[in-house]
Amino acid sequence: LVSRSAKPDNTVVRVKDVDIGGGSFVMMAGPCAIESYEQMLEAAKAVKKSGAKVLRGGAYKPRSSPYSFQGLEEEGLKILNAVGRETGMVTITEIVSSSHIEKVSQYADILQVGSRNMQNFELLKEIGKSNMPVLLKRGLSSTIEEWLNAAEYIMKEGNPNVILCERGIRTFETYTRNTLDLNAVAAVKNLSHLPVIVDPSHGTGRRDLIAPLSRAAVAVGADGLIIEVHPHPDMALSDGAQSLTPEEFDNVSKEVNKILLAL
Ligand code: PEP
Ligand code: MN
Repeated sequence: LVSRSAKPDNTVVRVKDVDIGGGSFVMMAGPCAIESYEQMLEAAKAVKKSGAKVLRGGAYKPRSSPYSFQGLEEEGLKILNAVGRETGMVTITEIVSSSHIEKVSQYADILQVGSRNMQNFELLKEIGKSNMPVLLKRGLSSTIEEWLNAAEYIMKEGNPNVILCERGIRTFETYTRNTLDLNAVAAVKNLSHLPVIVDPSHGTGRRDLIAPLSRAAVAVGADGLIIEVHPHPDMALSDGAQSLTPEEFDNVSKEVNKILLAL
């Protein structure tokens, strides 16, 4: 179902008035974690002004350490929902358990399956039984084939609204948090009709590399970007080192638009 031979035309996942895939380039942005209403509103207004159509923010954070901030849970979902409605933005948030599908779908427009859950097959099957748009992040050590098989799990249950997201993979390199695999973006665009979004924030882990990798992602043929933006990155409760200020995001957005015009 995911392969181009099964469906030659590019899939467009329509979420409210936003098309993902099929030629339109979409910017998704917002903080790693939802921390407060004020933080989300400030971030949302800024990224919207810079052209982002989709607002991101995690309410359930799968952190490497159990002692790190775990997210505001349902309170966070309510904040995301309120800010999404107030700004007229489409919202995306991570889902970590199949028991949360109904709850998360009630508050957010797109379900994000995180890297750590890419092979949580029971979660994938349950999301497949819903009709919710889903952004499927590549597992941190997953091959392209494993990633596409994960998408197949969702589609097999009847949900065609799958968006793929390359977010970097683990390699021997430690200078960057992950290695953003732009090979995979080009390969998956050949292999599949599904939209592919690039996440240079988790792909590099470094604020100074977001702009160049965003430019590269556009040039390689991605259908959009998802970028972490925080009003005050130094005070962020998670992923501050890779979060852009609203001004930095505005610059990235302008550079992206220049490349889009040149293509
Ligand atoms: C995130 O988007 O904040 C996140 C946890 O991403 P990933 O699943 O790619 O690590
Ligand atoms: Mn993050």
